[in-house]
Amino acid sequence: MSHRGKDFTSIIQKTEADFRSLLGVGEEYDVTFLQGGGTGMFAGVPMNLSGGSSGTPAYLSTGTWTIKAIKEAKKYCSPATVASIDLKEDASAKSFLDRASWSLPSSAPYFYYCANETIGGLEVSRDHIGNLGETPVVCDMSSNIMSRPVDVSKFGAIYAGAQKNMGPAGLTVLVLRKDLKGKAMPITPSVMDWTVMGDAKSVLNTPPTYAIYMAGLVYDWVKEHGGVAGMEEASKRKSALLYNALDKSDFYSTIVPEATGLRSRMNVTFTTPSADLDAKFVAEATAKGMIALKGHRTVGGLRASLYNAVSEDSVAALVDFMTAFEQQNSQ
Ligand SMILES: *Cc1c(COP(=O)(O)O)cnc(C)c1O
Repeated sequence: MSHRGKDFTSIIQKTEADFRSLLGVGEEYDVTFLQGGGTGMFAGVPMNLSGGSSGTPAYLSTGTWTIKAIKEAKKYCSPATVASIDLKEDASAKSFLDRASWSLPSSAPYFYYCANETIGGLEVSRDHIGNLGETPVVCDMSSNIMSRPVDVSKFGAIYAGAQKNMGPAGLTVLVLRKDLKGKAMPITPSVMDWTVMGDAKSVLNTPPTYAIYMAGLVYDWVKEHGGVAGMEEASKRKSALLYNALDKSDFYSTIVPEATGLRSRMNVTFTTPSADLDAKFVAEATAKGMIALKGHRTVGGLRASLYNAVSEDSVAALVDFMTAFEQQNSQ
């Protein structure tokens, strides 16, 4: 099947139309299917929007993925970190939420943040960012896209790797306000140039055809389950079930305190009283078929990812297991 043939053209057009209608993306935005993942976009954002070495885009540092994005941006421009969150120093995240304390560069070509820090388990909403006037807001939604409604009109660009909430790996979806086109640095490879790729309707070269087809099937499934609002209702219920169990227990501790208002509905991070018990928890859960509960290798602890594909029954089963594990392992 040719990627320029009739069959695939109708697949990619339907996938784009469904993505647009699910997230409410208007005609003033391009929707483009790219490759390179979130990490590719850490370079793609500054290459397409910073204006090069003299550009000082603003970055909100909320954890692993924004730290990586800032590091990559430094290859192309001079990013300014407006604020960093450190829950060990300030468990209320007060300084982070106080916009008056942010050091915003005077003429930032864009303001960048990550909507959900997958590893730390911290979700930042567009409301936390507030009004930034003309400065376009760029957001990494790789790990919470389609789990909650988004007011797309408040963004200059949104991107997401598909592999957490939208389909198999290999596809990255970009939403770009059209007035931000035409700003790429001259060195930008064509496959990373958002204007070139957008104008070519995502088929400048062979796109990840199978991943696009599969994402289209996921969009059908999301529509059948109440759309993005349905996903949000389910994710509220799933995360509440787990956080309530964690908050009731003296055995488990959450990493992101409730008081911050930043607890992720997608990635719930927690610990038992010791690293040894964390390891035992993972081993016993795995034996019961509950996999991937180990915290990210860079932070340790435990993490339950409650992406759209995770059923409410699975979360209930995890909570039952946690209760039994606590009973068996507390003195
Ligand atoms: C997983 C993830 C990434 C990295 O995605 P890759 O496709 O592996 O490069 C970037 N940002 C966030 C928020 C993520 O969850």
